[in-house]
Amino acid sequence: MRTDGHRRSENFEDRGAGSVRGGGGRAATRLLGLVVRRFGIKGLLVAGLGLAGVYFFAPASIQRAVFGGSGSSSGAVAGSVCAASEANTAACDFSRVVLASTEDVWAAQFAQGRLPAYGGALPRRYQNPTLVVFANSVATGGCGNVSSDVGPFYCPADHRLYIDPSFYETMAHRLRAPGDFAQAYVIAHEVGHHVQNLIGAKSVSVRGDTDAQASVRIELMADCLAGVWGHTARASLQITDEDLAEAVQAAHAIGDDTLGHRDRARFTHGSSEQRIRWFRRGFDSGDARQCDTLSVADPNRL
Ligand SMILES: [Zn+2]
Repeated sequence: MRTDGHRRSENFEDRGAGSVRGGGGRAATRLLGLVVRRFGIKGLLVAGLGLAGVYFFAPASIQRAVFGGSGSSSGAVAGSVCAASEANTAACDFSRVVLASTEDVWAAQFAQGRLPAYGGALPRRYQNPTLVVFANSVATGGCGNVSSDVGPFYCPADHRLYIDPSFYETMAHRLRAPGDFAQAYVIAHEVGHHVQNLIGAKSVSVRGDTDAQASVRIELMADCLAGVWGHTARASLQITDEDLAEAVQAAHAIGDDTLGHRDRARFTHGSSEQRIRWFRRGFDSGDARQCDTLSVADPNRL
């Protein structure tokens, strides 16, 4: 893919040390802390499906698989995250191009009403989310303090996506999912959660699911929406078959089964096969209405 000459989004925040703490986070921090203590990170994922939830890119088992479960993060970095290294500078610039492209794509999709509908009228205007880059840990505006050990995430309460650029290194080396389009998929997946937030796609609307099944529905839908973005941006960003292969490799790397879960009943994001298949469904069709995992009657047939 090519990023030169493309617009850089301004909906971007570089959170080095000394940044203003997000408002309204304190109660959520206490709540999430309680959930984590009681149920562990897995409980946080499941409990996090409600209004003040946090939507992650990867299952909680990523923590064990790639960070050794060590809780390695320690405080924010001083100054600019983007200026901290050459790799970060490139990652920030790249992320802003991808974010700008998602803004263009989703603005058009919303204007055309090409979205799955859940009861109420579909919004015709897309509201841009903000991408926050941080190091180690971050104070969100409604989802508490979150460590980068859990990977990139979206906080619906403040309409922000949060990414520690070191996750791209983790992907390339520990998860063996290198490549710029693999990184773009991460951003597009989190933007997918934002789209879900705007159109009211909530896992709780599905009757009879377990929390884990409800989570898988939402996550596979976000993968599919990421694919819709890729389809629509294909010409402008010169996305190639090799790029597509990078995203497929990344989708494989972060499947619940590949990250070590044997029990399907406890999957939160879907198997590698499911993640690839739903990403491809969006990428091949370019139609977000094809991403409606919430209307699949049997969650075992997703
Ligand atoms: Zn997700």
